[in-house]
Amino acid sequence: MLKLEKKSEEQSSSPMKTKVLLGHRRPADGKLFYHATACPSPNFSTLEGDHHADVCVVGGGLTGVSTALHLAKSGISVALLEAQRIGCGASGRNGGHIANGFSCELTRMEKMLGFEATKMLWQMVDSYLVDIDQNILTHGIQCDRKFGYIYAANNSYQMRELALLNDRLKSKYNYQKTTLLHKSELGKFLRTAQYSGGLFDKTCGQINPFKYLQGLVKQLKTMNVKIFEQSPAQAISPGSDLTVHAEKGRIKSKYVLLAGNAYLSCNTPLLEDKSIPVSSFVGVTTPLSRASIQSILPRDVTVADCNKIPDYFQIIAGNRMLFGCGINFLGKEPKTFRKIISSRIKRLFPQLTSFELEYAWSGLISSTTNKLPHIGQINSQIYYAQGFSGHGVVLSGLIGKLISEAILGNSGGFELFSRIKHKKLPPYPIKSIGLGIANLLHKLQ
Ligand SMILES: Cc1cc2nc3c(=O)[nH]c(=O)nc-3n(C[C@H](O)[C@H](O)[C@H](O)COP(=O)(O)OP(=O)(O)OC[C@H]3O[C@@H](n4cnc5c(N)ncnc54)[C@H](O)[C@@H]3O)c2cc1C
Repeated sequence: MLKLEKKSEEQSSSPMKTKVLLGHRRPADGKLFYHATACPSPNFSTLEGDHHADVCVVGGGLTGVSTALHLAKSGISVALLEAQRIGCGASGRNGGHIANGFSCELTRMEKMLGFEATKMLWQMVDSYLVDIDQNILTHGIQCDRKFGYIYAANNSYQMRELALLNDRLKSKYNYQKTTLLHKSELGKFLRTAQYSGGLFDKTCGQINPFKYLQGLVKQLKTMNVKIFEQSPAQAISPGSDLTVHAEKGRIKSKYVLLAGNAYLSCNTPLLEDKSIPVSSFVGVTTPLSRASIQSILPRDVTVADCNKIPDYFQIIAGNRMLFGCGINFLGKEPKTFRKIISSRIKRLFPQLTSFELEYAWSGLISSTTNKLPHIGQINSQIYYAQGFSGHGVVLSGLIGKLISEAILGNSGGFELFSRIKHKKLPPYPIKSIGLGIANLLHKLQ
């Protein structure tokens, strides 16, 4: 077993002095396609009594599991605490889109971070896409990976933006995997009158994120990572090692990663002030006939439109359409969300006459004001990762890898992300009023 030394204080921010209090947000119930159709996950026991590990990971989503896996591969002992069940959060309820880059536009990133840093971040995400496919291959994970992704333009302005992005990616980022599709070419992939054109990316696409997560967890089990479910972490107290407290047990560790994302609450303003949990909605239809699929998505690509809050859809296992849309800035699940999804599908594809929404659910997205991930350290021993802003299937795995590297003493990649500056959100009640207005504007739109 590798010996993990605590870093000296000069190497990192100051050590912990006071207790950090933690809570968790319970995921909404809903009828989840992924959970209903995957092989049953193993049940892990509740944390009881005292345990030791080099690193304690709080949160059993893609970020926590990725970090645990990378650390365990390096011989570090890891304990992972999950408040409910592994994959009950965003990682087991997202749209499964494997998309390159970030939620934030590249030009905006270049203005904020400079071109060189933006290019490095882009390339890191791009190469992590390859790592995901490598994981799928090496571990034989059956997670319905499909290639081919289209960013669809709703109007000529968005089409011009896509053309500029295509040029920029090719000339400045040396990224040659995209093709601009004008309206008539788009028609070969996507049969709707809605879009003016699109940008096709051949390496992006989709996976079943829950099956992928299950595949990674299977690896954790073979590496003796201690996994505990139904064990919400309640506090972290200081000491020569940190102690993570749950209701019936404790874990002592040198380092802690807070990977609870939108489902974690924490009394540290550093985390609470920089991101908000917003809810987003996904539905899955009854199986569609082959003829129906041909009439809407003849090339079986995965699609997201270019609106700030996009509609996104694809055909998934069992010939069903998965459709995601909308946001509630107050983190609520409006009663009408199923109706909204159905009507969006009908508006886009009026030719789709016979389908029901068999599954529908909501999930919390941790969103930052600049739509870039918020990664860092509360002190020299506690790391955190949140704020993937609806773009975390690839990013969460990458960030998990970078945090594990930082814990092991190679913090280059981690620092690139942790240097990103995030604006503070206003305190309550101003925050609630602002979010209420944002909600209203979104509804009107
Ligand atoms: C509806 C929806 C659709 C999305 N679609 C896409 C998409 O198509 N493509 C894309 O790239 N991204 C998408 N995302 C975003 C993506 O799913 C997330 O960025 C990513 O899954 C975040 O992973 P995570 O591990 O950080 O958080 P999560 O998967 O949310 O995991 C956090 C875990 O921590 C646990 N936890 C919280 N507090 C505690 C505590 N105190 N103690 C112990 N455990 C705790 C929670 O129970 C949860 O299981 C979507 C998100 C949502 C909600």
